[in-house]
Amino acid sequence: QLMAVTKTVGIQEMLDAVSAGVLLLGENRVQELLSKYETLHAAGAQIHLIGHLQSNKVSKIVGKAAMIQSADSIQIASEIDKRSAQAGLVTDVLVEVNIARQASKSGFFPEQALEAVSEISGFRALHMRGMMTVPPICASSAEIRKHFEAMRRLFVDISDKKIDNISCNILSMGMSGDFAEAIIEGSTMVRIGSAIFGPRQYH
Ligand SMILES: *Cc1c(COP(=O)(O)O)cnc(C)c1O
Repeated sequence: QLMAVTKTVGIQEMLDAVSAGVLLLGENRVQELLSKYETLHAAGAQIHLIGHLQSNKVSKIVGKAAMIQSADSIQIASEIDKRSAQAGLVTDVLVEVNIARQASKSGFFPEQALEAVSEISGFRALHMRGMMTVPPICASSAEIRKHFEAMRRLFVDISDKKIDNISCNILSMGMSGDFAEAIIEGSTMVRIGSAIFGPRQYH
């Protein structure tokens, strides 16, 4: 699956992408997702949240984001579960893994992932659909492939456990600079921003 990542991209350009057939969009900030939601939803697109989520914003995003790809702690998963239950919804999530254990990134360390998935499987208003990762920027193709490969192995190991109440079919990895390597290593969803829309303009 191809996701067009639309942070900083204007509504008209987003609608152009939707007209061209890209019905899956990704935003990394709650406020920006909400400000674009009505128009894009009406145009038939789905928007996933792909950035770190703070507890105090969960109630705003539940029911709007078609999936939250950044379930990066038990605390946030629990909050999404609570708010989804209150709204009478089940929210699709991906468990975010910090595959290279970088201090600067959020997500579960690989060795924590199985326990996290088991705990998340107990939340009744969450449906775990798979896993997502953002690996470090690497100097070589071989180096980035190692991270994607490690992620795919973890994903397959966890899928094979057949944990109740989850499905583990989506492996979201690969961005503009590394999607080819991600696909070779088994990505099922690439998240592409600048390679579609050009360099981001931050205001
Ligand atoms: C911005 C972003 C992308 C897309 O990045 P590009 O390099 O522009 O393709 C993908 N995933 C996440 C989580 C992002 O924040």
